[in-house]
Amino acid sequence: MALSPGHGCDPAAPSLAVIGAGVAGCALAARMRRLGWQGPISLWESGRGPGGRASTRRSRHDDLVRLDHGAPLLSISGSPQPTLLAPLLDGGWVEPWSGALAQLDGEGRLIAGGTDPLTQGDLYRGRGGMDQLCRGLLELGGTGLELHSQCLVCDLAPTAHGGWELLDQQQQRLDVADWLVLSGTLLVHPRCQTLLGWPEPPLQPLARTLRDPQLERAAAAIAAIDSSPRCALLVLIQASAAEAWRRLPFRLLSFEAAAERRWGLSRLSIQPLEDGRCAVVAHSSAAVARLHADVIGSRSSVAQLPGVSPSPQREQTLIDTLASALSAVMEPWIAPLVLEGADPQLMRWGAAFPEGFGLASELMLCPQSRIGFCGDFISGPGFGRIEGALRSGEELAEQLLAAMGPASVPAQGQPA
Ligand SMILES: Cc1cc2nc3c(=O)[nH]c(=O)nc-3n(C[C@H](O)[C@H](O)[C@H](O)COP(=O)(O)OP(=O)(O)OC[C@H]3O[C@@H](n4cnc5c(N)ncnc54)[C@H](O)[C@@H]3O)c2cc1C
Repeated sequence: MALSPGHGCDPAAPSLAVIGAGVAGCALAARMRRLGWQGPISLWESGRGPGGRASTRRSRHDDLVRLDHGAPLLSISGSPQPTLLAPLLDGGWVEPWSGALAQLDGEGRLIAGGTDPLTQGDLYRGRGGMDQLCRGLLELGGTGLELHSQCLVCDLAPTAHGGWELLDQQQQRLDVADWLVLSGTLLVHPRCQTLLGWPEPPLQPLARTLRDPQLERAAAAIAAIDSSPRCALLVLIQASAAEAWRRLPFRLLSFEAAAERRWGLSRLSIQPLEDGRCAVVAHSSAAVARLHADVIGSRSSVAQLPGVSPSPQREQTLIDTLASALSAVMEPWIAPLVLEGADPQLMRWGAAFPEGFGLASELMLCPQSRIGFCGDFISGPGFGRIEGALRSGEELAEQLLAAMGPASVPAQGQPA
């Protein structure tokens, strides 16, 4: 999928390639434009469309089906608010969320509200699906943004003029740009070795040979970031059975640590659809996801990547395990739980949440090598959440423009 080919921008301005069209990559592009940057921006995304971990699974055959299988919500707890939030709300891309929140303890008791760190602060969701957040950001980016979906960037090479080449699996050039931003960690982190069988994260040898101390420190720090995985069971409850789900005293149920251990689930998100059906997404605990580390949902976009081979049998076993956990949890409200016709599917998030401290914001930009990093793995307010991804994209845009120099933005640059 290519979005808005790069006309309407200033071909004389330096070009920027962004790897990843999740919240951070899209926020970076939007903020650059709103600060007046007119150079060409290309975004390279391995998934089917923008969104990353804040995306929505849709059906080619049924327009009304949508399941937010990663983040179901966006919470803003820091102040001031991210700059892009107001235009996203004004444009109708996101909306405030006030559904019922609850937490489940290890005895099966329901506590209204709760202390889930993912639901503290002001809550919002994408209007019509979480992927609308990234679509809105791309829209705010205006003309001259090129989005290339279903394109995995497998390698990088510095150019003779100090820029970057992006390469595919066959080492064919996908793009060449003056500046490069990585909004995901795949090309820097050793998990690409286990996930894709690559011999080494491609940026690591380059960081050693480019003799840029800032880049060496950033690459080492990113490689050391641990992350915790999740699996998600996705079910679509038909309208005839959905009323019971709509009547539940919660729309989002978080599991306390003891409840996670007991049921192997961490969250349950109830997502009523417009036509009476109801999407239900059950996220596993990190422990269950680790136990099934090599099981990948065959309908997820990661399963299409070269080097990844899903096992339908193991996938079915994990679907059955998560479905029985869901059935046990729902017993007080819906029993027996019948998932016939609910088309259970599996999604694996190998790196759902970064852990520890993340990448220090002083290391986000390496001006000597013309490379920058943004994403929820940058330390600071909102770390590990959409808020952090948004803020990091905004922050990097400002740092990049300062590094590119005043010539990169005309005097009448559009305000944020
Ligand atoms: C199950 C789950 C529940 C969550 N719940 C919440 C919540 O309630 N609230 C909240 O605020 N946050 C939540 N989060 C976290 C939130 O989703 C993330 O913090 C946020 O979406 C991260 O955005 P990002 O842009 O930093 O990274 P990503 O969304 O990971 O975006 C990076 C993108 O880069 C692409 N990419 C990477 N490498 C390459 C490459 N080499 N070539 C091409 N493309 C590449 C990836 O495909 C991806 O789309 C949840 C996450 C998960 C998984």
